[in-house]
Amino acid sequence: MALIVQKYGGTSVGDIERIKNVAKKVSRFKKEGHKLVVVLSAMSGQTDNLIKMAYQITDEPNERELDMLISTGERITIPLLAMALQALGHKAVSLTGRQSGIFTDSTYTKARIKNISNENVKRYLDEDYIVVVAGFQGIDDRQNVTTLGRGGSDTTGVALAVALKADLCEIYTDVDGVYTTDPNVEPKARRIDRISYEEMLEMASLGAKVLQTRSVEFAAKYRMPVVVKSTFKDGPGTWVVAEEPSMEKVVVSSVVYDKNQAKLTVVGVPDKPGIAAKIFGVIAKEEINVDMIIQNVSTTDLTDLSLTVPRTEAGKTMKLLKTAVAEIGAKDVVMDENIGKVSIIGVGMRSHTGVAAKLFSLLADAGINIEMISTSEIKISCVIRRDDVDRAVRIMHAGFSLDAQ
Ligand code: ADP
Ligand code: ASP
Ligand code: MG
Repeated sequence: MALIVQKYGGTSVGDIERIKNVAKKVSRFKKEGHKLVVVLSAMSGQTDNLIKMAYQITDEPNERELDMLISTGERITIPLLAMALQALGHKAVSLTGRQSGIFTDSTYTKARIKNISNENVKRYLDEDYIVVVAGFQGIDDRQNVTTLGRGGSDTTGVALAVALKADLCEIYTDVDGVYTTDPNVEPKARRIDRISYEEMLEMASLGAKVLQTRSVEFAAKYRMPVVVKSTFKDGPGTWVVAEEPSMEKVVVSSVVYDKNQAKLTVVGVPDKPGIAAKIFGVIAKEEINVDMIIQNVSTTDLTDLSLTVPRTEAGKTMKLLKTAVAEIGAKDVVMDENIGKVSIIGVGMRSHTGVAAKLFSLLADAGINIEMISTSEIKISCVIRRDDVDRAVRIMHAGFSLDAQ
């Protein structure tokens, strides 16, 4: 008998039939004798619809109220699954983030879990209940509802697994594992059997939606084994585990893209000490995550400074920069939302040269212009036009010999 935390994503609970299907799956595990905590997302599209409604009220929704609103999607799926499980003869109970003891900081829309008091969940488990928990939500120390960022139910799942000392965290989704790239963009992508926390973390943070970055951080820190599987078909899935000697040290092991970034350029920045500190200072204060930064060489005493941020925060960043521009005496700020980022990842890059050159020539041969570049020990990323992203992904996947035969 094991204690298992299972998380089912939006597509898996997308309608009533699918919720009944999840209930049947969960029921089978329960009958095998396992203790089960089931974390759910909102029905697919629901969170997007709620966000749209907020923006029909105002261009700048208050973030506390936004979290209050967008946390409701999960409030709908959890009682429905609990009822479906009860209809199959099980003891089941649905719990909100608060009822599950998930405490976060107050960074609305991207709150971080601070601690989990698991007594309530434990008591229900001891009383033989299947515990159905709302993903993506928590509560801060003033009882405000918070959400964990898009895709945050993954993090609820892994964090609960850690807090309950579960044997395993299973992530059930609409693909049957983690692939060498998004299989919905490149059908020749290959499923990976086992991947290290480190590489998975890199994939997630560069934009592979299949696991939220924070969930992988939790898993890595506490060495929680995570397996990604399909809700709709049986199979071995992908195990995310500590690095093993047998893991292939291929030069490039995956291709990742991100279409959810925007580029802002501060034009005509005076080239003198302290200016970058000023610009990034105002952004950091608002806890906006800056990804790439590029400053062009100044031939005069003025330079341009470009940076990328999540698209959802582009408007807010624009506003901050406009104020900063006036203060530092720069000329203007311009925003470009039609960018995308493509990246290659591989631990083998540490010991191989020429990988960047090969990537750049693959893109050049396809007539794709590179606007920004960033590298680390095990990845290279390029900002390109968003319309070029899918084509670039396929070219890179083939070019680095990742296509399935
Ligand atoms: P859920 O709603 O179950 O949380 P998500 O949409 O958040 O599902 O994540 C699953 C999706 O992640 C897949 O449908 C796929 O399009 C996308 N994805 C991106 N990169 C990868 C990858 N390397 N391997 C598998 N899926 C990926
Ligand atoms: N419902 C939330 C979202 O759409 C959380 C999740 O699905 O993981 O982002
Ligand atoms: Mg997700």
